[in-house]
Amino acid sequence: MNYMIKFIFIFVLLGQSLFGWGNTGHRIVGKVAETYLTKNAKDQIKKLMGHHDLSRMSYWADHIKSDPDWKHANDWHWCTVPDGENYEKGKHKGLAVEKVREFIDTLKKKRSTKEEKQIALKFLIHLVGDLHQPLHVGNGDDRGGNSVRLKWFGESTNLHSVWDSKLIDYQKLSYSEYANYLMLDENRGQIRQWQADSLLTYIHESRDLRKQCYDYQKDDLKWEYFYTNKDLLEQRLLQGGVRLSGELNRIFK
Ligand SMILES: [Zn+2]
Repeated sequence: MNYMIKFIFIFVLLGQSLFGWGNTGHRIVGKVAETYLTKNAKDQIKKLMGHHDLSRMSYWADHIKSDPDWKHANDWHWCTVPDGENYEKGKHKGLAVEKVREFIDTLKKKRSTKEEKQIALKFLIHLVGDLHQPLHVGNGDDRGGNSVRLKWFGESTNLHSVWDSKLIDYQKLSYSEYANYLMLDENRGQIRQWQADSLLTYIHESRDLRKQCYDYQKDDLKWEYFYTNKDLLEQRLLQGGVRLSGELNRIFK
C-alpha cells in the first residue's frame, strides 16, 4: 500500500514538471531535430550514446528533477527577461543561457570525458526545447506563469502547465504523429534560416511571443484558447527542433 501511495505521488510530481514542455513536447522537438541532422552528426551522436534517437534523450533532464543530487539543476531550464529588456548575463534569473553555452563547449572540447559529453548532450537537447516554450523566458514576476492560477476545461492548473503540456495533450496525437504533422509543409529555405539562428534570437523571440499566452478573458481556458494559440504552439515546437538540429550540426561537424 505504502509503495502504491509513493508511486502515485511520484507519478503526480512527474506530471507536474515545473518548467518545460511535457514529455510529448520534448519528444516532438527531438524527433524534428533528428530529421534535420546531417549524416555526420547522426554518426557521432550514435557513437556517443549508442543511438541517435533524440526524442529518447529529450526528457531525461526533467525526470532527474526528482533526484536530490540534481536539485541544483532546476534553475537551468529557464531564464527571465522582462518586457522591453535584452538578455544580459548575471542580470536576470535562471541559468538556461549560460548552461546551453557551457554544454555546447563541453561537447566541442576534445578533453571532455565521454560521460561529460553524454550529460551535456541530454541537457542541450532538452534546454533548446524548453527555451522555445514562450513562458520559459519569464517576465520575472510570476515564475514563468506558474503563479498564474486558472482552469483548463474546469480543472485547476496554472498558465505554465497549460503551455508545457495541456495544449499539446489536447490533440491526442503521439509525439511522432505530431512531429510528422508539423513537418508536412516543410520549407527548406526557412529551415536553413532557423538552423543558423543564435541562442539569443530564440530567447528574445520567446520574450516577445509570451504576451500572447496571457491574452484571455475568463480564467477557465477551453477550446477557444487552444485555437487562438495553436499556431504559436506549433511554430515553437517546430522551431525548437530545427534550431536544435542547427546547434548539433555545428557541434558535430
Ligand atoms: Zn525542462
